[in-house]
This record gives sequence, structure tokens and C-alpha cells, in this order.
Amino acid sequence: MEELKEKLTSSSARVEYRGRIAPSPTGYLHLGHARTFWTAYERARARGGTLVLRMEDSDPRRSRAEFASAAIEDLRWLGIEWREGPDVGGAFGPYAQSRRRTFYAEAWERLRALGLVYPCACTRRDIALAGQAPHDEQHGGDDEPVYPGTCRTRAYVSSASGPRGANWRFRVNDGEEVVFEDLKQGRQTFVAGRDFGDFVVWSREDVTAYQLAVVVDDALMKITEVVRGADLLKSTARQILLQRALSYPAPEYFHCPLVTDERGRRLAKRHDALSLRSLRASGVGAEELRARFRADEC
Ligand SMILES: [Zn+2]
Repeated sequence: MEELKEKLTSSSARVEYRGRIAPSPTGYLHLGHARTFWTAYERARARGGTLVLRMEDSDPRRSRAEFASAAIEDLRWLGIEWREGPDVGGAFGPYAQSRRRTFYAEAWERLRALGLVYPCACTRRDIALAGQAPHDEQHGGDDEPVYPGTCRTRAYVSSASGPRGANWRFRVNDGEEVVFEDLKQGRQTFVAGRDFGDFVVWSREDVTAYQLAVVVDDALMKITEVVRGADLLKSTARQILLQRALSYPAPEYFHCPLVTDERGRRLAKRHDALSLRSLRASGVGAEELRARFRADEC
């Protein structure tokens, strides 16, 4: 009886694994993306979980529909399967960020009501002149100068009914440590105000910033594990602060080491020869790539 009770409790407490792959349609997928997405797929499959495809096209200035359909085509060619996505639907859609503005605006409204975001009038140049470079160079990748806090205490008339028209920054507590256990990279520690400053969650061009969109989507799509590249470790620290502010559950993180070329340089989108399209065109088969990913596991 006790044993049965225990079984029931543990099975009802078990949370279904939900992972996601989230391409940005700003270019063709390359080998680096493919390996990370393949790892995400393998981890979801090994746990009998669900993989979600989310198109991260929240920035209309950079995203193109042709790259979105190319990404879907390339991922299918590689042999990755997803159960929810813009092409197959699902219970937590829409699965393209360009169609999720309402959710982001609600989160922004909550942050504003909590007094955790403020409009910033600084230009990029102001910040470059006043800010200092991030203390920790080792993580690199997604870096911007640490915002000096110029507009933190600036009085503003709040007549805005939405975020449109200003850069809204999330206020961090200077000196606060953000610590998380990465399933691949081990324990990570970042310090707010040193590694990153108050960061933009909504831009004056009326675009939801990456950090906010991702946090809202991972929560509403009930993602339990985030698999992505190690260039985003510092973003994870920022996102954890947003999750706490919005009372969202924290997913687990697995950051894959970055794929580098033969000279040790990070693969970037400009390495066109390493896009899945060019590889396929030059006769590389999907099975060959999968074998390579399995041998050189994240
Ligand atoms: Zn400012």
C-alpha cells in the first residue's frame, strides 16, 4: 500500500520533458546550429519528451520569411522531428514570435506595474561613451557595454498605454549574483552590474527584445530544458532574473560548446560554405552529418 502510494506520488510529480529548438530566420542554418538542434532533439527523444520548434522572428528588421521556411526544410532534411511548431500547430501556439506580441506586452505591463522597467533615452553612442566594457570577457558572444544606469532615476511621465516609443530597460540589482547549474558547463556565476547592466526588454522601434520574448515563450510553452549554444550563457543569467521577476518556473539549461572552424574561430553565418544548404548541395548526406554529431557529441 505504501509502495503504491509512493509510486502514484512520484509519477504525478514527474514533469513531462519539453525541449525546444528556436532558429532565428536571419540567415541559413549552419553546422553549429545543426549540432545544437540535433543535441536538443536527441535529449528530448532519450527522455520520451516533446520537442517544440519555435521561430524566433520577433525582429521584423532582421527576419525573413524565406529563411524561416528554409530552416524548417533544412531541419527536416537533417532528420529532426518536432511535435509542436509553426508548421504543425500545437496547444501552446502560435509558434512564431512575430505572432506573440500580446503575450510579451502583458509581461511588459507586469514588469512596469512592479516598477522593474523604465524608459531609457540614451543613444547607443551615449552608452558606449559612458559605459564600461563587461568585466568578464571569457563568455563573449552576446555582449554589449554595461549600461551605466543614466536613466534609472530619471523622472518620466507615464502616459504610455504600451511599450511603444521608448527603450525599456529591466533594472538589475548591482552586485547581485546569479548562479545556476548548467547541465553541460557546470556551475555558472554572473554578477549583475558587472557582467551585464540594466538590459533592454523592449526597443524604441517597438520590437520585443530577445531576452523578454524567450523568457515569456519558454514559460508559456512549458519548456523544462533549454538546449542552446554556450554563447548564450550570459543571456541565461539575464533571463533568470526576468523569470524570477515574472514568477515563472526556471527550466534546466544545457549549453553546448560552440563549434569552431579548423582555425578555432567560431562558426558564424558568414561561413556560407558551412550552411546546411551548401553542404547538401556539395553532396554531404544527412546521415553523414548525424554520424558526425553522434561522434562529436555536445
Ligand atoms: Zn538611458
